[in-house]
Amino acid sequence: GPRTFETGPALWHERLVLPSEAGHKYDRGHAVVFSGGASQTGAARLSATAALRAGAGLVTVFSPASALLVNAAHLTAVMLKRCEDAAELEERLGDGRLNAFVLGPGFGQAENARAYAQAVLAAGRRLVLDADGITAFQDDPATLFDAAGEAGKARADGEPALVLTPHAGEFKRLFPDLAAADDLSKPVRARQAAARSNAVVVLKGRDTVIAAPDGRAAINASGTPWLATAGTGDVLTGIVAAQLAQGTPSFEAAAAGVWMHGKAAEAFGPGLIAEDLPTMLPRVFALLA
Ligand code: AMP
Ligand code: MG
Repeated sequence: GPRTFETGPALWHERLVLPSEAGHKYDRGHAVVFSGGASQTGAARLSATAALRAGAGLVTVFSPASALLVNAAHLTAVMLKRCEDAAELEERLGDGRLNAFVLGPGFGQAENARAYAQAVLAAGRRLVLDADGITAFQDDPATLFDAAGEAGKARADGEPALVLTPHAGEFKRLFPDLAAADDLSKPVRARQAAARSNAVVVLKGRDTVIAAPDGRAAINASGTPWLATAGTGDVLTGIVAAQLAQGTPSFEAAAAGVWMHGKAAEAFGPGLIAEDLPTMLPRVFALLA
């Protein structure tokens, strides 16, 4: 079968978009992270902070009205806008500079999750779908996969518009047959999932595999067991979204993001919690200089 590569800078460095000499913040993209309700806003903030650290020029949290005040009290450089329902999102999507979205961490609200994911993809924007955003489609994955296919075709660059970041349990919700196929290796399962879903699939865990609909796949070798702690997956969504916002192609954005996330964990060492990962990103970028 096709070869599976190791995720390291050699795989994606040439395609990774970094800040340009004369660039301003609008050149570095504008990422949006959807917040959950008032009692579950932390995940979106982890993602948003990571997106800013990972290089997005601007980051905005879209929050339901119920969670605006708690988000406002905890955000600094990250901006905040109300987004209550699909109609309000449609209006906000009128701003074409919003070019990378994160939906799922701490989101809840399955009905809104489905409507938001479809609206973002229909607008041709790239979307990192994780956690509750994945679970929202468990009864009807085909709707998501079709929307991703249409979005990719509609994009001028033909890049996959959807990046899925499931852990093993979430993977099973969208791809139950592949999850049960014990005879298939993790890279083969991820590759088949990517082809079926028209998405870049990041199958997380100890040896995270990144696969693209065109058959490319990579296994990540960075990281430490200390990553097995609450919120680290939320941070990963923001790191990947930042690469998308800056214009890196989808497979390379996912592969680079996973590698950076692991390197940040290595740089911190033992005792890591999710909040520590964004603070380690400067050291990771220094490795790339
Ligand atoms: P989540 O399951 O969404 O909380 O995400 C957990 C993150 O930590 C993913 O990026 C996993 O790849 C990573 N991770 C979990 N367990 C390990 C492990 N034992 N070694 C390395 N990375 C891990
Ligand atoms: Mg998670």
